[in-house]
Amino acid sequence: PKPLLPQSGRPGGLSNVRHVIAVSSCKGGVGKSTVAVNLAYTLAQMGAKVGIFDADVYGPSLPLMVDPEVKVLEMDPATKAIYPTEYEGVKLVSFGWAGQGSAIMRGPMVSGLIQQMLTTAEWGDLDYLVVDFPPGTGDIQLTLCQTVAFSAAVIVTTPQKLAFIDVAKGIRMFARLVVPCVAVVENMSYFEAEGKRFHPFGQGSGERIQRDFGLPNLIRFPILPDLSAAGDGGKPLVVSSPASPTSAAFMELGAAV
Ligand code: ADP
Repeated sequence: PKPLLPQSGRPGGLSNVRHVIAVSSCKGGVGKSTVAVNLAYTLAQMGAKVGIFDADVYGPSLPLMVDPEVKVLEMDPATKAIYPTEYEGVKLVSFGWAGQGSAIMRGPMVSGLIQQMLTTAEWGDLDYLVVDFPPGTGDIQLTLCQTVAFSAAVIVTTPQKLAFIDVAKGIRMFARLVVPCVAVVENMSYFEAEGKRFHPFGQGSGERIQRDFGLPNLIRFPILPDLSAAGDGGKPLVVSSPASPTSAAFMELGAAV
């Protein structure tokens, strides 16, 4: 398949992207990328034109979670424009498909690279661009927020207390940058076995965050082997099992953004 070409006569980059959504967490491994990818495909299922930008240079997740036919991003040598690849109708850009060794770059170089990749990609006409932030609240995250006017942020956390402290930092960062946090996702919140609900990491951090920061939506996802297996298998759960209760919870999140 050919890379997607910009529509003639229209400016490229982000100029025809209506809403840019940040999916952020301050710790790694809480399920931020899983949430970002499934949120994006849910928005697509709701009828929107959607793209995903995987902003993690050091540990890109998108290439593990979706399996597009074209696995190298093409660049126009004259204009330096990058063409997203595509899977199930969603446009995708990740450093994992950029073919550059970036593991030893310093922060300022990484910030510049992310900014360039995000703004020079030919996103075309999109209703939503979901940006999967790298974990943390440092220079890279700040640069991202200063590059694009995000219309909303989704904060992903797990129930552990440490995650709460870090997440509060993330919410304050978005507040300072006047990006509304529209939802907190409490991921790996519980699991169900023999008809009972267990909370192995404790309870209440999502509620505390929602209350303390006045966030309008709290959405919980259980520990779900299917969610992990779908991610590892290159097909997001909402694509492989659109009628599951988890997909319904993603619809709730889709409605929140
Ligand atoms: P992050 O982006 O925060 O580093 P990932 O989305 O990469 O986290 O998730 C880390 C791992 O946890 C992945 O293997 C993913 O499949 C798994 N995972 C995420 N959410 C859940 C969940 N609710 N239940 C089971 N496994 C999950």
